[in-house]
Amino acid sequence: MPTDLPDGASTSAPAAPVEFRDDVTVELIKHSASDTDVLWAARVSTAGEQSLDELSKDPERSKGLINYLMRDRHGSPFEHNSMTFFISAPIFVFREFMRHRVGWSYNEESGRYRELQPVFYVPGPDRKLVQQGRPGKYEFVHGTPEQHKQAVAAMEESYAQSYAAYQAMLADGIAREVARATLPVGLFSSMYATCNARSLMHFLGLRTQHEMAKVPSFPQREIEMVGERMEAAWAGLMPLTHAAFNGNGRVAP
Ligand SMILES: Cc1cc2nc3c(=O)[nH]c(=O)nc-3n(C[C@H](O)[C@H](O)[C@H](O)COP(=O)(O)OP(=O)(O)OC[C@H]3O[C@@H](n4cnc5c(N)ncnc54)[C@H](O)[C@@H]3O)c2cc1C
Repeated sequence: MPTDLPDGASTSAPAAPVEFRDDVTVELIKHSASDTDVLWAARVSTAGEQSLDELSKDPERSKGLINYLMRDRHGSPFEHNSMTFFISAPIFVFREFMRHRVGWSYNEESGRYRELQPVFYVPGPDRKLVQQGRPGKYEFVHGTPEQHKQAVAAMEESYAQSYAAYQAMLADGIAREVARATLPVGLFSSMYATCNARSLMHFLGLRTQHEMAKVPSFPQREIEMVGERMEAAWAGLMPLTHAAFNGNGRVAP
């Protein structure tokens, strides 16, 4: 929903349309990933080199082998594949995301080389707003409609002001890399993230909540939204591996 900056917020820059979003973008843009890749890597142990066609001839045996590898945490056969995602999400999601170091490659848009666009995160109506309990043992519950309205209004006002300050600095000749310091972590950024099934499973084990998880995790909802979309794309590419991940408690091998 684009809106205009408040009148007089920026003296020299033209008013930029500010966009507020309550969702994230996740697109699988490139991949080389299939269950056969797992079988191929695993069977070199016992059968040496073999053709990919040969591997898909006995589906039940293939399913059993993938399940065994997952259950006994033989992880390396799950690394011989690659998925590249384009992700657009708030900066606070990227801060959490990039803590995942192993088996991930990242390239993010630059706030030094390009003017950052005014796209900001606001919680959607279904986003649970209220935290109850103590650290380490709490749950999130729905806020009232008034609390939602208050949160969205406060964020929108703050975002519009900080973006106006950013634009004013740029208009006065201040470098993008300096002016961006005024922008908040609710600003959307974009990146390519490349991973393999093993590193994605580790990510999903920590960044999603799931009834089949043997070890529960309590991720922030916004990174979970990214994880859920990545998982849906991956499940379509590697259905046997995905089923074995779920069946073995969503613990990465
Ligand atoms: C719910 C939740 C809350 C969190 N809260 C905080 C917080 O308050 N503050 C904060 O700073 N972080 C926080 N984190 C981030 C967390 O500590 C991890 O940095 C993040 O989840 C990435 O996990 P990882 O290190 O296992 O992943 P990766 O970096 O991808 O590593 C994968 C695996 O490789 C191994 N590994 C990687 N690097 C090393 C190493 N240097 N030495 C030994 N083994 C290594 C480990 O087995 C690791 O599990 C939180 C994460 C979650 C899911």
